[in-house]
Amino acid sequence: MKNNLCAICGGKLQNKKTTIDRMVEGHMYLFEKVSVQICEKCNEIWIPCREAERMDQAIQGKIKPHKKVSVPVY
Ligand SMILES: [Zn+2]
Repeated sequence: MKNNLCAICGGKLQNKKTTIDRMVEGHMYLFEKVSVQICEKCNEIWIPCREAERMDQAIQGKIKPHKKVSVPVY
């Protein structure tokens, strides 16, 4: 990823904190206040490596969640 430019459309990226959800093997994982970069043109979310690593570790059970919620599925 180039500095502050979207790799898809070349738009400007803005630093934001957002909630990311990931579905892995039928389990939903929610990550709050993740520092990401969001393209102001196409709204693509770019997750920095260190945040992505933290998510992988959490999904592998290496990080304890600070809360759990149940998610209804229809
Ligand atoms: Zn873009």
